[in-house]
Amino acid sequence: MKSKQKWNNYGEKKFRAEQIFQWIYKKNVTTFDDMTNLPEPLREKLKENFDLHVFKIIRKQESKDGTKKYLFDVLDNNAIESVLMEYKYGKTICVSTQIGCKMGCKFCASTGVKFARSLEAGEIVEQLLAIERDENVKISNLVFMGIGEPLDNYENVMKAIKLLNHPKGINMGARHISISTSGLVPNIYRLADENIQCTLSISLHSASNEVRSKMMPINNLYNIQELIEACKYYINKTNRRISFEYALAKDNNDNIKDAEALVKLLKGMLCHVNLIPINKIEDGKFTKSTNENIIKFRDYLNSHGIVATIRRELGSDIDAACGQLRKKEVSK
Ligand code: SAH
Repeated sequence: MKSKQKWNNYGEKKFRAEQIFQWIYKKNVTTFDDMTNLPEPLREKLKENFDLHVFKIIRKQESKDGTKKYLFDVLDNNAIESVLMEYKYGKTICVSTQIGCKMGCKFCASTGVKFARSLEAGEIVEQLLAIERDENVKISNLVFMGIGEPLDNYENVMKAIKLLNHPKGINMGARHISISTSGLVPNIYRLADENIQCTLSISLHSASNEVRSKMMPINNLYNIQELIEACKYYINKTNRRISFEYALAKDNNDNIKDAEALVKLLKGMLCHVNLIPINKIEDGKFTKSTNENIIKFRDYLNSHGIVATIRRELGSDIDAACGQLRKKEVSK
């Protein structure tokens, strides 16, 4: 909900705020007229002073595996993508946090599109509300793995998590939320001190600074050793297991030597490695490892004390898999 002008409370009772909050976040209505337990004059005042900021669906695509990709008009001439995935344990939404991304990872489709702006907390949460309305479902898990770097939009992402958690609203537990970061070290420390129970995923992709810097420019700012220090602090502070994302690209980071270096780096840490067969993007120089290499890589990690799994790729036929999302212009 967005204020059109500075709100003054018109002497309304406090409990009205709670009613409105529930209409938006629990009952997921899209107009003030739907808020039937509010007196008519209050509904009129709300209409004059606020916009509910309901996203328009520009396009919805459905994959053979049931994954759905949405392109939303965020109402200022910009558009973002969100993905709904089906897992055994429930429905998971992958949300965007920014319109574009500043990180410049060489293998990611969100790179190469001009950064427009960060999303507000309400716009992050509206992605979930809009899909729940459209599909008439309850989404149980949320991952910050769409377009953008969540820790580069820190305040709004924290605010969105509080909204998602709220028992009188969406009521999604923090343990059902994952934040994925390319490695903004100072904000990993900040997150550790927040005392929230969400899962942290680190996009690591290599144990070698030389290789990682070629994939992710952020590594020139915060190298692997600084990143791992921050992760250790996070684990100590939260007692939560970190998930390391590792996108395997042929002849780049998928050799047994690379697995050896990864074992050395992560040995003894409370962590899990998520192996992703890299998705080739347009003009990208990184290509998928062979299945054989991916399995060898996983088995090497598992037999050397690092728990590793291969992520099942969902939605690749509709460009909805990891790293395939990009900001799409709204054509007007
Ligand atoms: N900016 C955040 C979140 C968005 S990306 C981050 O970097 O973590 C979500 C995940 O998809 C990250 O692990 C990212 O490295 C990975 N990813 C990006 N492009 C990919 C590609 N082409 N193939 C496989 N994974 C990719």
